[in-house]
Amino acid sequence: MPPIHLAIVGVGKIARDQHLPSIAGNADFKLVAAASRNGTVDGIANFTSMKAMFDSTPSIDAVSLCMPPQFRYDAAYEAILAGKHVFLEKPPGATLSEVESLTSLANEKGVSLFASWHSRYAPGVETAKSFLRTNVPQSVHIVWKEDVRHWHPNQDWIWQAGGLGVFDPGINALSILTHIMPAPVFIRSATLEFPENRQAPIAADLKMTSANGIPVHVELDWRQTGKQTWDIVAETSAGQIVLMDGGSKLTIDGKAISLPAEAEYPELYRRFADLVKNKQSDVDIAPLRHVADAFLTGERIFVEPFHD
Ligand code: NAP
Repeated sequence: MPPIHLAIVGVGKIARDQHLPSIAGNADFKLVAAASRNGTVDGIANFTSMKAMFDSTPSIDAVSLCMPPQFRYDAAYEAILAGKHVFLEKPPGATLSEVESLTSLANEKGVSLFASWHSRYAPGVETAKSFLRTNVPQSVHIVWKEDVRHWHPNQDWIWQAGGLGVFDPGINALSILTHIMPAPVFIRSATLEFPENRQAPIAADLKMTSANGIPVHVELDWRQTGKQTWDIVAETSAGQIVLMDGGSKLTIDGKAISLPAEAEYPELYRRFADLVKNKQSDVDIAPLRHVADAFLTGERIFVEPFHD
């Protein structure tokens, strides 16, 4: 099969850090163009709008949409209507309805839609999932605490309504949780802390349970300086299982498990190529649904203003 002719849309941090090297390392793809209002990619045709790109490069088969979530739906809609396969960065949209609309449209037009969740491809996640299939968790505790000034300096969109705030990294934890848990979980109560000058939360505390009563506690905080924490700990009758550093390290009952090297984005592109070849879509909205539920049910507390 000839390579899939791919274009990148929204050339910013994640496009440069992860998408470009992963595409370059995957022979199933040929990067042929980019569309971005300001950013450009060396060595390929660059455009300031997707429409101009599609008009002048009709050979494009697929697009990777790397702009912030509030601006992704219109681009995805336009790309699917133009008959292109679509890779959506996480979160797949600003609302659940948007993602459902894209799913229907992709089915109608016969193109592949991929709602990517990069953290699900972290090295320890599949081993953790199989362990929890046979050793049902008795409780789960997630601590996802990082320094927003380090990871998201001057990213205004992330603080605007629809930008998700601390759920932008927190949804990665929820994407792992929803993948590894043997039973669905629900939010029972939540507390969201909003800086009084911002539209998105800086911290969140979620109390969840499964239908059979397994408690899941999720702590998200963007005010952590010093050591950064992205850990998921589950207690089971066969001992404690700890997924650390976003899923890149794993211990079971105190013993470190040997894992392959980190390859989240190369794995995402392998998956996208398979979806396109097999004319399938993969759109799991469970992580975004939990974020929506947190906003629906959460008690709001206003805290001191945040300045970058
Ligand atoms: P970013 O660098 O702030 O934004 C990406 C690009 O999107 C910008 O360079 C900009 O390019 C374009 N853009 C910004 N505002 C736009 C608007 N109003 N309309 C259309 N395009 C706009 O953000 P990022 O960190 O790459 O994050 C983008 C997405 O990737 C987010 O959903 C995020 O959750 C996800 N992600 C990020 C990371 C990370 O480490 N940063 C990791 C995993 C996933 P132009 O100005 O050139 O149009």
